[in-house]
Amino acid sequence: MQQVDVIVVGAGPGGSTTAFLLARRGWQVLLLDRAPFPREKTCGDGLTPRAVATLVRLNAEGVVAQRALRVESARLYASPRADVTLPFDPHVAPLPPRGYILPRIVLDDLLRERAVEAGVHFRGNVRVHDVIRREDRVVGVEAQDRAAVQRWSAPVTVIATGAGVGLHRALGILHKPPHDVRAARGYWKGVRDLAPRFEFFFTPDVAPGYAWLFPVNEDTANIGVGVYAPPGTSAPSPHRLLHAFLQRHPELRRRLDGAELIAPVRSYPIRTDYPSHRVCGRGWVMVGEAAGLVNPVTGEGIDLALESAILAADAIHTALSSGDVRRLCAYERALKREFAHTFTGLRRLRRRVMRPRALELLIRRARRHPGLATRIMGITLGTVSPYTAFLPSTWWWILRGG
Ligand SMILES: Cc1cc2nc3c(=O)[nH]c(=O)nc-3n(C[C@H](O)[C@H](O)[C@H](O)COP(=O)(O)OP(=O)(O)OC[C@H]3O[C@@H](n4cnc5c(N)ncnc54)[C@H](O)[C@@H]3O)c2cc1C
Repeated sequence: MQQVDVIVVGAGPGGSTTAFLLARRGWQVLLLDRAPFPREKTCGDGLTPRAVATLVRLNAEGVVAQRALRVESARLYASPRADVTLPFDPHVAPLPPRGYILPRIVLDDLLRERAVEAGVHFRGNVRVHDVIRREDRVVGVEAQDRAAVQRWSAPVTVIATGAGVGLHRALGILHKPPHDVRAARGYWKGVRDLAPRFEFFFTPDVAPGYAWLFPVNEDTANIGVGVYAPPGTSAPSPHRLLHAFLQRHPELRRRLDGAELIAPVRSYPIRTDYPSHRVCGRGWVMVGEAAGLVNPVTGEGIDLALESAILAADAIHTALSSGDVRRLCAYERALKREFAHTFTGLRRLRRRVMRPRALELLIRRARRHPGLATRIMGITLGTVSPYTAFLPSTWWWILRGG
């Protein structure tokens, strides 16, 4: 059995970034993914200003910017009367006033390549199906590659498997299905009137959820729908909502007239349930969506995957340097401090405010009140507490009209 310092399972943004940071500190890291790379990931491909802030910290904005479409505003649409485009400058301060759109087949491979350049050993086509335990400690993983069952051992295993929960079951930490959003997206070529901005649509056709249109270049867009679907409830299929939305919405019908769907629409579940289970134990930690870290309101998780990777890499480095793997769980405490309260607030906001009539009112008012616009952007990006949505001053802006 081959021995390394750290095994990272999953080469999405969370896994590749954790691997990169640890290899740069001199640890021997093995990064495994069930897919051969480059690989598609069903996603809206949007990098928020919050993600850009972390890419800057990781010194990775430059490589991403070279391949991506830069956006500097977001359009929020609920009806012809509630339609506003908010520039990131000044509404997202102190975050950088820019985002990017880059298909994940490119983004994830860039981040994986950076990890390999830093010394990480990557193996694709390797599906990890179990952890190896010694007494109460995880000491490695067992995987299936094309040829045979393989085993690797390490004092630390990082689970960065996104919405996949096979290893959570193997660890015995998951007692109910955690996916609470379903989303579908496709790429259309020949779309009219594309502008370098994120577009979000909160119309009744896509409730309970929203649609997006993110341009990937001057005539092609990633268009999709995310539907809030708490486990155990029946929610409409995102595929069906997407097709109904594109057929019924007069503006989208016009903009897509003559456009061609260039890859089949694909759907994938999303987890926004942090903190619903342990994200750390003896010899293991979880980063990114594997920990349920996706924004419950926007469905965006690349930014949080990158941030959790930085926190995890710090805790792993400290634990390995001290020879005491119990110190790994400083990571769990750091995550809690950073995200637990915010996630509870965002889920509350999703239940109470993410309804077409409420959003229509909010967007209409945001056109007139820059302070409200800043608050909406800040809440969705995590720079303003979601609890401010329930403050009297917010409702004063909304109810007094303008
Ligand atoms: C339709 C849709 C649209 C979205 N749009 C956006 C958006 O615009 N912006 C945004 O920020 N977020 C978006 N998200 C969320 C975002 O995709 C995820 O939050 C993000 O990819 C999480 O990154 P990660 O590194 O944690 O996991 P992932 O990117 O999911 O990577 C997990 C990796 O683990 C591998 N893996 C899984 N199981 C195993 C196993 N057993 N063995 C080996 N390898 C394994 C997978 O192959 C994969 O490469 C969207 C999600 C969906 C479904």
